[in-house]
Amino acid sequence: MSEKQFLGKCAIVTGGTRGIGKAIVLELARRGANVAFNYAKSAEEAEKLKAEITSMGVKCFTSQCDVAKTDSVAEFVKQVTAEFGTVDFLVNNAGITRDQLILRMKEEDWDAVINTNLKGAWNFAKAVLRPMMRNENGGSILNISSISGIVGMIGQTNYSASKAGMIGLTKALAKEIASRKITVNALALGLIETDMAQEMNAEYREKILSQIPLGRLGNVQEVAEIACFLLSDSARYITGQVIQVDGGLAM
Ligand code: NDP
Repeated sequence: MSEKQFLGKCAIVTGGTRGIGKAIVLELARRGANVAFNYAKSAEEAEKLKAEITSMGVKCFTSQCDVAKTDSVAEFVKQVTAEFGTVDFLVNNAGITRDQLILRMKEEDWDAVINTNLKGAWNFAKAVLRPMMRNENGGSILNISSISGIVGMIGQTNYSASKAGMIGLTKALAKEIASRKITVNALALGLIETDMAQEMNAEYREKILSQIPLGRLGNVQEVAEIACFLLSDSARYITGQVIQVDGGLAM
């Protein structure tokens, strides 16, 4: 594999300012891709990351764009396409939690999580399809889901439903657009060391940690490398799959 395997490729990563999204943005850029990413609030972090990426000799585009807003997403993708010429890769990474037992969960917590995690992925997939379909070699879409969407987790009726929804979206879309050489896969992540994992109740986090066969949390760099593999030419014959990256937690 050449170090700059993604030279000339153009990628969009949603929620690129922190955690897993940031690691994927940096790894794509290291491998030579032009990278666009959006964010919700972290304008300062976005500008810093943009400077880091452009210093690697690739193009970078960033702006604030709420993934839940269909029109804003369409506009963001339009701007990226104008800047880069096309889109080869989409990583639907932006996500939030609003954990609470269902009896105490507010309707707005349900709506925020479903709209960000699930509708956000649908918005971006829909918006990138036209430019991707024009590529001779199609493209790759990767949805960042969670084992919470496979096994269900207490306090996460909203989050588990959103992440299970992403798995359904992955499979339906994979079938729908396979003939255009576009692959669609998902990662079902376990516990990865980021701000989101820090927000977890400490006792619950320790309990989960004790149940992970590999005995540790995952790190963002290992997720980024697996993401790059699934986006790459080496994975052109993989589509509609959900790959668990969880240290064996949900075996
Ligand atoms: P972080 O909370 O560290 O980062 C979330 C990113 O998403 C930020 O860049 C944030 O932008 C962005 N974002 C949030 N809401 C929106 C929105 N409405 N519009 C645009 N951008 C938004 O999350 P992680 O890196 O931990 O998680 C990334 C993905 O991985 C999520 O989908 C999560 O569900 C999934 N995942 C994470 C696990 C973990 O253990 N960490 C486990 C399983 C799945 P800003 O900085 O502006 O707020």
